[in-house]
Amino acid sequence: MKPSPISASVDFTRDGVQHGFLKLPYSRDDAAWGAVMIPLTVIRNGDGPTALLTGGNHGDEYEGPVALTKLAATLRAEDVRGRVIILPFMNYPAFRAGTRTSPIDRGNLNRSFPGKPDGTVTEKIADYVQRHLLPLADYVLDIHSGGRTLDFLPFAAIHVLDDKGQEERCEAAMQAFNAPYSMRLLELDSVGMFDTAAESAGKVFVSTELGGGGTATAKSVAIADRGVRQFLIHAGICAGRIERRDTVTLDMPDGDCYVTSLHDGLLEMCRDLGDEVAKDEVIARVHDVTRTGEAPIEYRARRGGILAARHFPGLIGRGDTLAVVAEIVG
Ligand SMILES: [Zn+2]
Repeated sequence: MKPSPISASVDFTRDGVQHGFLKLPYSRDDAAWGAVMIPLTVIRNGDGPTALLTGGNHGDEYEGPVALTKLAATLRAEDVRGRVIILPFMNYPAFRAGTRTSPIDRGNLNRSFPGKPDGTVTEKIADYVQRHLLPLADYVLDIHSGGRTLDFLPFAAIHVLDDKGQEERCEAAMQAFNAPYSMRLLELDSVGMFDTAAESAGKVFVSTELGGGGTATAKSVAIADRGVRQFLIHAGICAGRIERRDTVTLDMPDGDCYVTSLHDGLLEMCRDLGDEVAKDEVIARVHDVTRTGEAPIEYRARRGGILAARHFPGLIGRGDTLAVVAEIVG
């Protein structure tokens, strides 16, 4: 395969703290020989495990960028045994635009793995992460939230994996992150995901959904800050004690968890995040916005459980995920 056009200004093998960039040449109208400069920090102190910490995989999700920017500015080499690679704004063009996908090529980074060295800008980022960063890592934490169109209960997540030993290691790392909720995710569409790339490479991988609505709150950032620290302690990279608070274990065992809107209209949620709902209970109504006097369409839970995610904006479109009802396991 062709070499990546991306070059790193940091030396991943050097001890100490390095703040630098991944430089991705990108010729465009306002910079003929310009480049996308993706900030990153590498902190290394001798031999030991490597953690790769990523935010901004989607550009409108903010707990990862906030927590990882703070970590990059404060973590010292003497606090570390091994190496921490911090990439707070992984899809940097999308992050700067405040959009889920890249404004350059509409690329959804989390559907672009393993990427292509000679593909679009987004595919080039994916290829670099796949071939140059993932092989360095033992532990990978990718911090997501709902973005502008979804809101989530704050949870850390793992996938059910064929390799049960690996699944147990991921589960233990998720428990160390210790979000208020811990989820076994069923992906609607796992092809091209960073998750799949990291898991296929045998890494201990944890992702999160820590809120949404296109912003971060004091509460959701605190969950990210604490989770990242505890993840690094669990990896054996940072010293300290893991404090274990109660976490509610959730499961999304099948497609009945998802409620999809079949109508365009005005969304009225009848239940809020964290509410327990019964099967067939009305959880939302969609009102006609083209005329008055029409009865709303009722949307019902397809299974019992807890409302774990909801569509965020007040208007909803046909095909949008309206809600996710997860099963409470314990
Ligand atoms: Zn995301």
